[in-house]
Amino acid sequence: MKLLRPSLLALACLLAYPATADDLPSLGDASSSIVSPEQEHQLGRAWLSILRGQVDQLSDPQLKDYVETGVYRLAETSQLQDRRLEFVLLNSPQLNAFAAPGGIIGVNGGLFLYAQTEAEYASVLAHELAHLSQRHFARGVEAQQRMQVPVMAAMLAGIVAAAAGAGDAGIATIMGAQAAAIQEQRRFSRQNEQEADRIGLLNLEQAGYDPRAMPSMFERLMRQYRYDRKPPEFLLTHPVSESRIADTRNRAEQYQAGGVEDSLRYQLMRARVQLIFEETPGIAAKRFRAMLEENPQLDAARYGLAIAQTKGGQLNEARKALEQLLAKTPNDITYNLAMVDLDITNNRLSDARQRVERLRGLYPNNYPLDQARIDLMLKQNQAKEAGQAINELLKTRPHDPDVWYQVAEIRGLAGNIIGLHQARAEFFALVGDYDQALSQLDLAKRRASSNFPLASRIDARQQELQEEKRAIDKMLR
Ligand SMILES: [Zn+2]
Repeated sequence: MKLLRPSLLALACLLAYPATADDLPSLGDASSSIVSPEQEHQLGRAWLSILRGQVDQLSDPQLKDYVETGVYRLAETSQLQDRRLEFVLLNSPQLNAFAAPGGIIGVNGGLFLYAQTEAEYASVLAHELAHLSQRHFARGVEAQQRMQVPVMAAMLAGIVAAAAGAGDAGIATIMGAQAAAIQEQRRFSRQNEQEADRIGLLNLEQAGYDPRAMPSMFERLMRQYRYDRKPPEFLLTHPVSESRIADTRNRAEQYQAGGVEDSLRYQLMRARVQLIFEETPGIAAKRFRAMLEENPQLDAARYGLAIAQTKGGQLNEARKALEQLLAKTPNDITYNLAMVDLDITNNRLSDARQRVERLRGLYPNNYPLDQARIDLMLKQNQAKEAGQAINELLKTRPHDPDVWYQVAEIRGLAGNIIGLHQARAEFFALVGDYDQALSQLDLAKRRASSNFPLASRIDARQQELQEEKRAIDKMLR
């Protein structure tokens, strides 16, 4: 999987408008005149499943939840009409984020590393949402209808070629055949970027953030990477020029001051990401400790230290740090979840469970909490309860491959083999492996042969997936 990522990213950069390649554009770059919005939606989902099959993702429920709720909140004050969004969180320390047609939002873990405040982080996402709301993809197509569909197909083909191990061959094909189309796209880039900045600033302000965060981040990045021959991915695709900075600065200054700049929650999530990308928990702990020495009031650093210590096996020290944080805010969900983690690592399962059940009263329908509860149930050998709990979770996260993966595991533990195959099928479909998905349903059908209603439900789902597979194959032809 790791090996494929560079190819895919290269592909994305290549296809994206050179000045703007954040956007992994092209697939489903379908104007209403060629492809209906509904088709665009479906194309986007199909593309997402293929992407998911190829890139390493971060499956941390707290990070996923933070990104999702944050973007939905931004979307509320955005100009986005169709707010059916799907998210993919990439396990990459590079600075990048993208939006793809059909409501796909991709965020690299690296965005948290580079964006120093929540408003900076939100400014990147507001920019991406603006590409979606202004339908830059579809508008690009209108100007070059004949060119766009082949680009879209070539991109998918390239992704699949990469998946099949063809490496750069797929990319080479695209370069040859589609260079003209890509060239053509350049005309739209700068204008689209300006518009995304402008609309993004407006969105930031309306969501209660300080819009000055956008130019501030641009300025810092420009200073930092001005002479760097290998700037972060996002800067390659989003060159921050003096004029772009001046333009966003001027616009941002027109809004009233007083918007939100940062939050403790963001800094806590940032600490989680820093830990993920640090070489060892020990190195991370050292860094958090140094931050604390400079400023003992820095709760995010104390939290980072605690989770690094938990991971590194320094459980007593971790407990001390967490107790200190919980003394301040006993009901904080992030601190409590860290304590749950620590108790699990420490094999204090009933303490962890008690905490989780108590928190559920305070935070109903909280994904990270519900997920922690399910994990605990499994550790406590309560497969049946875990099964019920995950069925509940599935209602709110029906398109989450991480959840389906665990559904399969839990059904297996409960001896529900038909259900296991069905869940595996859903998982494989969500990560773009339709052949596996279909054969899992074959296995399920065989076992269900004496149960006619069930067998026909499985059959119906199999036909749906076959239809999806055909649609994708058609795009690839
Ligand atoms: Zn952009």
